[in-house]
Amino acid sequence: MFRKVLIANRGEIALRVIRACREMGIGSVAVHSTADADAMHVRMADEAICIGPAPSPRSYLNIPAIISAAEITGADAIHPGYGFLSENEGFAQALEDHGITFIGPTAEHIRVMGDKITAKDTMKALGVPCVPGSDGGVPDVETALKLGEEMGYPVIIKATAGGGGRGMKVANSAEEMPTAFSTARAEGKAAFGNDEVYIEKYLTTPRHIEIQVFGDGKGNAVHLGERDCSLQRRHQKVFEEAPGPCITPEERAQIGKTCADAVAKINYIGAGTIEFLYEKGEFYFIEMNTRLQVEHPVTEAIFGVDLVREQIRVAEGLPLSFSQDELEINGHAIEVRINAETFPGFAPRPGTINAYHAPGGLGVRMDSALYDGYSIPPHYDSLIGKLIVHGRDRPEALARLNRALGELIVDGVETTVPLFHALLQEEDVHTGDYTIHWLEKWLAANYDA
Ligand code: ADP
Repeated sequence: MFRKVLIANRGEIALRVIRACREMGIGSVAVHSTADADAMHVRMADEAICIGPAPSPRSYLNIPAIISAAEITGADAIHPGYGFLSENEGFAQALEDHGITFIGPTAEHIRVMGDKITAKDTMKALGVPCVPGSDGGVPDVETALKLGEEMGYPVIIKATAGGGGRGMKVANSAEEMPTAFSTARAEGKAAFGNDEVYIEKYLTTPRHIEIQVFGDGKGNAVHLGERDCSLQRRHQKVFEEAPGPCITPEERAQIGKTCADAVAKINYIGAGTIEFLYEKGEFYFIEMNTRLQVEHPVTEAIFGVDLVREQIRVAEGLPLSFSQDELEINGHAIEVRINAETFPGFAPRPGTINAYHAPGGLGVRMDSALYDGYSIPPHYDSLIGKLIVHGRDRPEALARLNRALGELIVDGVETTVPLFHALLQEEDVHTGDYTIHWLEKWLAANYDA
């Protein structure tokens, strides 16, 4: 049993992990930058330790400072949350070397899945369906043009080290290829220090469907169905739900089993998400995230499980606490990401919260680190809360979302709440009829954004 877990993160996800630890009788250690001295995760954890100044490379990404904090406080394990060091193989390896448990997969699995080409090769070999495209990296624009000719346009050029929607460019024709190719390369180099790119067929009407998997590291794994995260802006998810409105029980069982079998075969440990584009009844693998996702609460809601507790348990060497047969879907859940941003401009607006009131009642969960008088520091992500609603079916979840958004008060900063009020007026949102391009088109048509 772990006695103490250090959380190498901040904001709502740090609270999420502290809460799981507390329910399990495990001590919690918060780490924070100087800008976060008054943050909620610092107040809520059993202990807190400052690890550096505001810029994240010097605090939340500072591996030696985090390891020192674990050693000083006697933490036996570290939970990385999402973002920051959660998919950093060097961090996982450094913890292993120091005898501290990383609550997540092995450094090797992070490495394989962190590189999109090796991830795709691995998944293909494990029988997971992939988007047609280049076999590995594409060295130059001549090869890219040849591939474009063979595959047919449009194609997408992707940085192999890419993430967060960066390092991707679409070429609709051979004329567009040279610019798209060099831009994707340059973005990969600038953002990730790696200019290798690969090419995929660009799907024009897909939905984003991702499968939640969980492994015990000993060859056993289960899946917890799918999440539909098709409503995206600049390849960033804003509205997520489970189950997917267009996925049949048969499709779920089949793709779920394929994914669970794949991760079982590689002895994967902990939570993972296998992301697909879904078009005309076919699934196409795009990437695997080897961590807890921002949108994990919708899965927790419909299956009635605590995914963080499960992560901690398997990291302790315990077996999975549920079998595939025991996992049954109950109702429908939706999450919306609330950012401190203008709407419709989406410009970050950190500031001081004069008043905060979280919605409540049946089927409502608000994951947020806000409190009255809190000053949002300008150095980090603009996500300030996730509102998750659960209903017996999709219409009830949507009605509950509308009701809960009406109760939420965040006074002092602009937020993206008006986006969700506006979306709830849309017929397509109620029918669930949209692709990954719907939101951008809707924003362009209605807001010139
Ligand atoms: P990242 O790691 O940056 O999140 P992904 O590979 O997961 O990149 O892709 C992010 C998003 O980009 C997808 O959800 C989808 O909207 C779009 N995308 C990626 N690959 C394709 C493709 N082959 N065709 C169409 N859209 C794509």
